[in-house]
Amino acid sequence: MALILAQMPLLALHAQESGNGGQPVFIRDAEIENYLHSLAAPIYRAADIDPKSITILIVKSSTVNAFVAEGMNEFFYTGLLQLTDSPEQLAGVIAHETGHIAGGHLIRSEEEMKNASAEAILGTILAVAAGAASGSGGLAAGSMAGGTQIAERSFLSFDRSVEASADAAGMSFLDRAGISVRGMLEFFHKLEGQEDLPKDQQEEYVRTHPLTRDRIDAVQQHLNASPLKNAKLPDKFYVMHERMKAKLLGYLQPETAMLRYADDDPRLSARYARAIALYRTGKPDHAIKLTDGLIKQEPDNPFFYELKAQIQFDNGRVDEAIENYKKANALLPDSALLQQAYGHALLESKAPDKDGARIDLALQHLLESNRLEGREPLTWRFLASAWGRKAEITQDTRYEAMATYALAEESAAQGNDKAAGQLAERAMKGLPKGSPYWLRAQDIKLSTAPDEGGDKKGKKKGGD
Ligand SMILES: [Zn+2]
Repeated sequence: MALILAQMPLLALHAQESGNGGQPVFIRDAEIENYLHSLAAPIYRAADIDPKSITILIVKSSTVNAFVAEGMNEFFYTGLLQLTDSPEQLAGVIAHETGHIAGGHLIRSEEEMKNASAEAILGTILAVAAGAASGSGGLAAGSMAGGTQIAERSFLSFDRSVEASADAAGMSFLDRAGISVRGMLEFFHKLEGQEDLPKDQQEEYVRTHPLTRDRIDAVQQHLNASPLKNAKLPDKFYVMHERMKAKLLGYLQPETAMLRYADDDPRLSARYARAIALYRTGKPDHAIKLTDGLIKQEPDNPFFYELKAQIQFDNGRVDEAIENYKKANALLPDSALLQQAYGHALLESKAPDKDGARIDLALQHLLESNRLEGREPLTWRFLASAWGRKAEITQDTRYEAMATYALAEESAAQGNDKAAGQLAERAMKGLPKGSPYWLRAQDIKLSTAPDEGGDKKGKKKGGD
């Protein structure tokens, strides 16, 4: 699991320019993302949405919230994930959010977004998440300046009729996906009574998705008439849900995890939570011992090798970490995050690399990660470092230019157009004209050229 400061690569907005101190933090975790995608995929398909077109983002925040932004991005706060007790409850939340997407409830806001600057919008998202992260439980008014109104109108607050229609759509998706709406009802019951609290004491989810008796009644009626009333998701989803919660607690609230999952609790999820909590509280040896027990029990589980590798990597045992990342990747080759972590570990090894074989292996896995997830800035940064090393070993300046090109991609993915354009221009000078990377550098240069109202082709000649 990795904590990533907000870069919003997929929104291609300008994180650096948001200028507030409380950047929100996103959580990237192969296992949890894997679970959320597999739970959500049948719901998206029921809504005639290609699951690949939706990006799920996990915001590190104890606030209970979930929302949709820029059309195809669903944000889930860790506070919400931790509040759900079952995969059906989480499926209810996903179905409701998907109801907003399918209902086009964001078209209006997309129009508004066109009128607002990218910075203002990002400022809004950041401030919302930062407010949540700071535990204030409300919008961080102080850091939002002009953003507040956009947040309240476009992003977060739907009126009650829109909420009811998202519920109705969500319930029909759940029906089609063969999932009971019981979980949706249970989740609403958890939040019941919040409506009567003063606004500043309400859970964010209730503020952004006003909950009413009518909504709860509608879901109850649907459930009563449903043939899926008592349907349960397959056990594997319960297992994944339990491990997600164990992992989040161990990672985010290790002290609480140690209390909740007692020493003698034999359940796998309990030992998983404790292993992570021990790692997070500076007890790597004990953590690895517990993780070894997990691996023994499930020798084909890539995420246990990943945990062991991460503990070793963070404690300077890079070469041991490499071996475990290798195993994790062999078990789950199509995870961009695992490929990236493996490539990164290979880069960080201090062991001799005479013929450069290790750098080549690092490049292979970083390129594979990049193929699986093209706009992850960190992968580009590691690629830049790997190509830089390759240039040193081979004394071939083309690798230097490729390193510069990778930095251009990193900047572009972070929305830093100016730096991206400059780096791309510099990279082009060192790459063979017309070669694949030269062409991609040219694309960056052209797409990041300052827009002066003319079409971009006209700028081809306008450089210098
Ligand atoms: Zn809603």
